[in-house]
Amino acid sequence: MKYSALALVRGALTGGRHWTPAWRFPEAKSRYQVLIIGGGGHGLATAYYLAKNHGVRDVAVIERGWLGGGNTGRNTTIVRSNYLFPESARLYDFSLKLYESLSRELNFNIMLSQRGLILLAHSRHDLDSMARWANAMQMNGIDAQLLTRRQVAERAPLLEMSPQARFPVLGGFMQRRAGTARHDAVAWGYARAADACGVDILQNCEVTGFTRDAHGAVTGVLTNRGAIAAERVGIAAAGHSSVLAKLAGFALPVTSYALQAMVSEPVKPALDTVVLSPGTGAYVSQSDKGEMVLGASLDLFPSYAQRGSFAITQSVLAATLAIFPTFSRLRLLRQWAGIVDVVHDSSPIIGATPVPNLYINCGWGTGGFKGIPVGGWTLAHVLATGKNHELAEPFQLARFVSGRLIDEAAAAGIAH
Ligand SMILES: Cc1cc2nc3c(=O)[nH]c(=O)nc-3n(C[C@H](O)[C@H](O)[C@H](O)COP(=O)(O)OP(=O)(O)OC[C@H]3O[C@@H](n4cnc5c(N)ncnc54)[C@H](O)[C@@H]3O)c2cc1C
Repeated sequence: MKYSALALVRGALTGGRHWTPAWRFPEAKSRYQVLIIGGGGHGLATAYYLAKNHGVRDVAVIERGWLGGGNTGRNTTIVRSNYLFPESARLYDFSLKLYESLSRELNFNIMLSQRGLILLAHSRHDLDSMARWANAMQMNGIDAQLLTRRQVAERAPLLEMSPQARFPVLGGFMQRRAGTARHDAVAWGYARAADACGVDILQNCEVTGFTRDAHGAVTGVLTNRGAIAAERVGIAAAGHSSVLAKLAGFALPVTSYALQAMVSEPVKPALDTVVLSPGTGAYVSQSDKGEMVLGASLDLFPSYAQRGSFAITQSVLAATLAIFPTFSRLRLLRQWAGIVDVVHDSSPIIGATPVPNLYINCGWGTGGFKGIPVGGWTLAHVLATGKNHELAEPFQLARFVSGRLIDEAAAAGIAH
């Protein structure tokens, strides 16, 4: 069913009786050409691009909980491509470009809002490194603009601009094409489009093991609903990637941490851009409902508990109030966490694993929402063709052996 203004009018006139479910709830078949573990954005996008780009439709996505209930439905929805190294710039800008046409492509409004993202410079050192960063982006063909102190104040008037502030704002830099998108809509849009191509989405189905042939190659998965065979299997399980890798008999350089976020009560429009302060770790945007969406640093002890610790909640709030003191009058509405898959160089892993027929997309850590379209595109490519997509070539697991790491966090001083 195609969504349109006309369909909306028809729905209103007929009491909403003609709406059909956005995706099916099928029974699992005993065999598929490709199985994807993880019904988050990356897994669902992989299924969609397998069908759309490669004509591979005999696909199932296996999700142990509900679709989009992992980090995809828990993140702070920021999309951007302001990366320093050419490899990352290419990868993330490809993703942002896919986002720019995704609502039309999926016939599902993902509410992309390119309201710009400002990074605050709190010291002369920050100004120097941001100039280097913005120059690198421009050389990579990506929009970046240095801002004076005054330009920052004009764009975010509620910011603490006093020179005596604990974190004075000396300037900043902006990517105008950055912004936010509705996270649930991204998952739902890909799910609906993949389902329409014939992909089976199996919710409440947990992978508990792998079946292998005599040569050790993966031939399928074991689940709490029985065994399912497949020619190839892809893992897109974010914080649980290393758990699945262990089940398959190999180790990943991934540590899982809780990353938390929170929202205030809704207020009238007060902030029409995304503000990120690498110095304090805090970042803030205002949702379409009016809530201030706050995030900051990781809970720095490995955990699978999707809550986050009180100490970090407190430090996120303290950091936010240091840059936006007026927000101290807001009441906190909700706080939650997701389990993110952090690797040493804060760059993703997309490609083959040491186990034949098993492929993986992980390591996005605190920043993989923006990478969903390209993560799906490139994992689908390797699953369908057996060859790495050219964008994913630098992001192979082998880089942890060769030492050719792409350390964006260290280079740019930012983790989101
Ligand atoms: C608080 C927070 C804020 C963030 N903010 C941003 C941001 O602003 N911008 C940004 O770009 N990124 C952000 N991120 C990161 C981003 O959310 C993730 O990188 C991205 O959503 C990962 O998507 P995914 O599809 O790989 O993982 P998920 O959405 O986590 O999906 C993986 C799925 O695998 C399933 N699974 C796990 N084990 C099994 C199993 N054994 N069997 C079957 N299914 C299994 C899980 O249930 C889960 O649904 C944030 C993350 C958090 C937690």
